Order: sequence, then structure tokens, then C-alpha cells
Amino acid sequence: MINDSDIKMLSKFMPQFPPGSVWLVGAGPGHVGLISVMGLFALKQADVVVYDALVNREFLQFMRPDAEAIYAGKRGGKPSATQENISHAIIKYAKQGKRVLRLKGGDPFIFGRGGEEVEALSKADIRFLAIPGITAGIGGLAFAHIPATTRETNQSITFLTGHDSKGIIPSAIDWDALAKGSQTIVMYMALKNIDDICKRLIGGGRDENEPVAFVRNATLSDQQVWQTSLGAAANFVAENDIKPPAIVVIGGNVALRAKILAHALPFYPEAQK
Ligand code: SAH
Repeated sequence: MINDSDIKMLSKFMPQFPPGSVWLVGAGPGHVGLISVMGLFALKQADVVVYDALVNREFLQFMRPDAEAIYAGKRGGKPSATQENISHAIIKYAKQGKRVLRLKGGDPFIFGRGGEEVEALSKADIRFLAIPGITAGIGGLAFAHIPATTRETNQSITFLTGHDSKGIIPSAIDWDALAKGSQTIVMYMALKNIDDICKRLIGGGRDENEPVAFVRNATLSDQQVWQTSLGAAANFVAENDIKPPAIVVIGGNVALRAKILAHALPFYPEAQK
């Protein structure tokens, strides 16, 4: 794996992580191998790691033994930490002179409230660095063996969230325009409103037979992938009891999966035995 001499060699390429600053790091969709080298580098140095619910706990073993891990998500039915409280905690640790690593699932700025956090840090006069991560809508597709684009199927791809800050279908999205103007559509947090979303897309002219895939727990060892059609998608979610976290992908590229699946090597060592 990555030892101290590797870290030393990498350090000449790395930005500084000074005491009293915050690195906002995307952990990727789940698989430990999908964090960036920069992110891993920060994880090895941080004094405090504040991590979200969707972050794989395996990452915490890369922390310094004397560093502190703080959970900032929902657990055991307790209400989730508010965004304000999380930002407040991060600022507090930075002001204590700690190197604070804010570890977020996927990419911090893709439906991850990273924007709010860096705004709060700026207001509090805290220096920060944001390190991109592989977003679930990219990593999840690759691990499900769905090429995000191919020249034959789609020349564009759209990422959207299926619910807004109130939990309802985002009214700022022009669903008719989306149905007509987008080719492949990759949706985050879309299970709750799947019925409404599919109806709007079909109402906007999308073919009911268009392939749809669901990727749950993408890139983790218990990843599940399902495939259906746009017209059948809402019933399919109910019948198969598909639960979050899942990515929904709609488009011609989904059909390629069936052709390549049999030749794909496993992503986890235990699956190779
Ligand atoms: N910033 C994250 C997204 C956070 S929003 C990113 O870039 O990936 C949370 C939503 O992301 C989930 O409801 C789900 O739609 C999606 N998601 C995150 N991790 C996932 C995973 N491992 N498998 C499937 N979907 C995932």
C-alpha cells in the first residue's frame, strides 16, 4: 500500500495543509480505492476528520492514531446535524489551530452542500482548500458497467437531483425542456419522487421503452444494479423495494451494460477467489 516513503515522495507535489485550515475532500462514492491521492494525503495528516453519513468508515483507518474522527450525519434515529452546526464545528476546530479535514461523499460540490461550507469558512476568515472527488453519478455508472457516454448513444449527459431542499421535486427544473434537450440523465436522490419524475419525462416526449438503471450502494461490496424501462420504473422501485442511496440513469447508454458485463473483472479482491 502507500507507506511513509511514498507519502514523502508525494508531498513535493502537494499543497500545504497548515494548522488552522480546512481541507474539504471528496471521498468518492464508497470504494476505498476511489479517493484521490491528494485526499488520502490530507487524511494522513489531519488532526480532526469530520465525516458524513455516506462516507465509507474504512477511510478512518488511514487517519493518524491521535487524530479525532467526528461524525456529522444521521445515526440511530437521532436528527441529523444541521448544516449550521456542522459548519460551526469545523470553524471551531480550525480556530483551535487544528488541521481539519471535512470528508464528504462523492464530490463536495455535487449536491453535497460543499458550497455552503466554503461560504461559511470564508465568512469566518478560515483558509480552505477543496479537493474534488469522484461523484456517485460517474463512479457508480462505471462500477455498474454503464459507459457514461458513447458516440453511438449520447453526446451529452445531465446530472440532476430528484428533490430540492424541501424534499419535493425541484420546480426550478424545466422538465419538458429536460425531456427534449437532454440525452442521458443521471439522477441523485430521485427514488422518492420517481413516479412524478418519470411521468414528467414521458409527458415531455421521452420514450417509455428507454432503458433505466438503478445503482444502489454504488462501488461498495454490496452494490446492486437493476435495469428496467422508463415506463415501468416507478412500479419497479416499489416492487423491488429499492432504497437510497441510489443513482438512477436514463438513456441509450444503459443498454450497453448487457453487452460488456460478462467480461468485466471484479472490483473487490474477495470476489476474485
Ligand atoms: N456529493 C455526493 C452526492 C451527495 S447527495 C456525490 O458527489 O456523489 C446523496 C445522493 O447521492 C444519494 O441519495 C444518492 O442518490 C447518491 N449517492 C451517493 N453515494 C452513492 C452510492 N454509493 N451509491 C448510489 N448512490 C449514491
